[in-house]
Amino acid sequence: MKVLVINCGSSSLKYQLIDSDAKEALAIGLCERIGLDVGYLKHTPAGQDKVVIEAKMDNHEIAVSMVLEALTNKEHGVIADLSEIQAVGHRVVHGGEKFAKSTIITDEVIKAIEECNDLAPLHNPANLIGIRACQSLMKDVPMVAVFDTAFHQTMPEKAYLYALPLDYYDKYKIRKYGFHGTSHSYVSSRMADFAGLDINNSKIIVCHLGNGASISAVHNGKSIDTSMGFTPLSGLVMGTRSGDIDPSIIEFIAKKENKTIDAIMHLLNKESGIHGLSEVSSDFRDINQAMNNGNEKARIAFEVFVYRVVKYIGGFVASMNGVDAIAFTAGVGENDPKVRRDVCEYLGYLGIKIDEEANQVRGEETMISTSDSKVKVAVIPTNEELTIAKETVALL
Ligand code: ADP
Repeated sequence: MKVLVINCGSSSLKYQLIDSDAKEALAIGLCERIGLDVGYLKHTPAGQDKVVIEAKMDNHEIAVSMVLEALTNKEHGVIADLSEIQAVGHRVVHGGEKFAKSTIITDEVIKAIEECNDLAPLHNPANLIGIRACQSLMKDVPMVAVFDTAFHQTMPEKAYLYALPLDYYDKYKIRKYGFHGTSHSYVSSRMADFAGLDINNSKIIVCHLGNGASISAVHNGKSIDTSMGFTPLSGLVMGTRSGDIDPSIIEFIAKKENKTIDAIMHLLNKESGIHGLSEVSSDFRDINQAMNNGNEKARIAFEVFVYRVVKYIGGFVASMNGVDAIAFTAGVGENDPKVRRDVCEYLGYLGIKIDEEANQVRGEETMISTSDSKVKVAVIPTNEELTIAKETVALL
């Protein structure tokens, strides 16, 4: 079955056309600068060079129509006719408490997603625009919404409640939701298979370390805790996000620097993290290079990042009263041997031993722990689009 997977942002739209039987992408691409003067469609058919098309895309419907044109184009297309697209899977960031699973999109579902807009004002409205644009251009094609938050809906109250007056949970649903759910779900289940564990009797920690980063504790296949919270700002140190800080710092900076709440949220989301600490870059490739050149700030940023990862792993080992396997995934987790080695060095107390040679791997499913390590540690590349496509097929 051919499934179009759509991840729609406010001015961008990422897509992949996936053959769910072959489990591979036939084409991947991105529309950038939707609604601006000049936009771009970057389209890469599998095994071929990227095609860049410059065009003004006034709105998302025009962007989707350009994607459909690219997919059926005589030269760089990958299907002969649009009727070959049998389903569309949409990534939706926030499903609140309404969605613990992926769901077929109906008018009621759209209404329920709209009701979660408050919780993700930058993402959900954009996701809905993508859904509507596809609906208007592909009238009879079934569509499915796959939520970033759904996998974490199994967290117990003791994990998801903040110690605020309970009224705020009742009135506004302020609680921990967690994100990257498709990745944590896919990687934990893959890790169980790869390590020969029975998922229903397993304790797995997934470290999704990308530009955005989060860790989850997956007990018997269910998320019981995760590092991101009410929004994707909390938890680990990230490329440009601060992760956990003392909330009083917000008031302190506001007064000292005469900043508004909006300015501080911008600071915490876009100017902090590895970027803010290192004053070099948010990208670990640049940080590694700077460290190799003796840059002290880059080294400190790296250490703060690793230390935070270690503290979350330690916390989640305690939450589950043990751990069978730890998986590293996403851009940094899959590609940075030093991050993995430094994290695991702290975890000697768990009987973890890393095979230095195996740990040099980048982007390939690999066991990086030694055969006598008490906990299995592996690199498991994530594939959120394939997971969305699979969920879409399963529901239909
Ligand atoms: P997101 O999906 O959150 O944007 P990704 O999972 O794609 O992020 O991760 C992107 C990050 O992965 C980059 O910012 C960079 O820090 C890191 N990364 C990518 N390739 C490498 C590499 N070869 N070595 C170290 N880090 C890498």
